[in-house]
Amino acid sequence: MSLIKEKGLSDLSEKIKDVFSVVLPVIDSPQFLTWLMRECFRKGAQMIQCSIRGLLTEQVQALKLAYGVQFIVNCSGLGSIDLAGDKELFPARGGILKVKNDGSLFPKIDFCVKGCGMSHGLDEDGQEIFSPPYIFARGKDHLLLGSFVQRNRADHNLSLAAPYVQKMLQHCKELCPRLHALRDSDVQVTVGIRPGREWVRLEQDSDVPSLFHNYGHYKWGMTLCWGTAADIVHLIDNEVNKMSQITHAAKL
Ligand SMILES: Cc1cc2nc3c(=O)[nH]c(=O)nc-3n(C[C@H](O)[C@H](O)[C@H](O)COP(=O)(O)OP(=O)(O)OC[C@H]3O[C@@H](n4cnc5c(N)ncnc54)[C@H](O)[C@@H]3O)c2cc1C
Repeated sequence: MSLIKEKGLSDLSEKIKDVFSVVLPVIDSPQFLTWLMRECFRKGAQMIQCSIRGLLTEQVQALKLAYGVQFIVNCSGLGSIDLAGDKELFPARGGILKVKNDGSLFPKIDFCVKGCGMSHGLDEDGQEIFSPPYIFARGKDHLLLGSFVQRNRADHNLSLAAPYVQKMLQHCKELCPRLHALRDSDVQVTVGIRPGREWVRLEQDSDVPSLFHNYGHYKWGMTLCWGTAADIVHLIDNEVNKMSQITHAAKL
C-alpha cells in the first residue's frame, strides 16, 4: 500500500486487494503515427487517398493494374464490413478525456494507473458502461482519462455531459484525488470508433492469393500493429517463394 501513498492515490485500502507497479513501454499514438508515416515515406512508400467500394475479391486484378502492385493488403478496419463482406466486425465506440498535465491545474502526474472494472451506469441505449478507470500520462504535458467500450455505436456525438462520462470522470478523480481540482472546462472529450472483432483477421485470402487481410484490431491496434504487419510480410514472402518455385519448375 506504500505505492498508493507514494503516487498520491486514494487510500481505498478496504476495497483494494492488491497493488503492483510495472515498467512498460507506452505508445503516444499521435507521435507514433506521425513517426510511422515519416518512416514509410523515407522508405519510398507513396500515399494515394481514395475510397474503394464493393467486395475486394472482385476487383483485385483491376486494383493491381491501376496501382501497379503485385499484392494488396486490406487494412481497412470497419471498412471490411463492405470490402470483405465481414459480418463479424462491429463498431465499438470509446471516449477519452484529455486534460493538461503541466502542473498548472494539479501537481503533475508522471505515471499511469488503472483501477478495477466498475460500472459507470447506463448509456443512451441502456447498455451498461463497465470499465476500469485509468489515468495515463502522455507526452510532455497531457493526461488521458478513460475509457469505455460501446458496442455497435459508430457516431461521434459524445459529450462530457453524458451521465456515464461524468461518472467515469468521477471514478478517475476518486482514484487520484488531485484530479478533483479539474473543472469541466478543463476537460476535452475525444471519441474514437474501434474496429471490433473477436479476433484480428490476419490471413491470405483463400480465393485470391494476392490479397491479404489485416484488420479487426479492436482495442489493441496500437499494441498489435507491429506484430501483425510483420506477420503479413511473412505471409507475402511465402507467397513470393511459392510463385518463384512455380516459375522455376515451369522453366525446367
Ligand atoms: C478510445 C480508444 C482507446 C484505445 N486505446 C488503445 C490502447 O490503449 N492500445 C491499443 O493498442 N489500441 C487502442 N485503441 C484501438 C486502436 O486505436 C485501434 O485498434 C486502431 O486504431 C485500429 O487501426 P486500424 O488501422 O486497423 O483501423 P482504422 O484506424 O479504423 O483505419 C482503417 C482505415 O481504412 C480506411 N478505409 C475504410 N474503408 C475504406 C474504403 N472502403 N476505401 C478506402 N479506405 C477505407 C479508413 O478510412 C481508415 O483510414 C483505442 C481505440 C479507442 C477508440
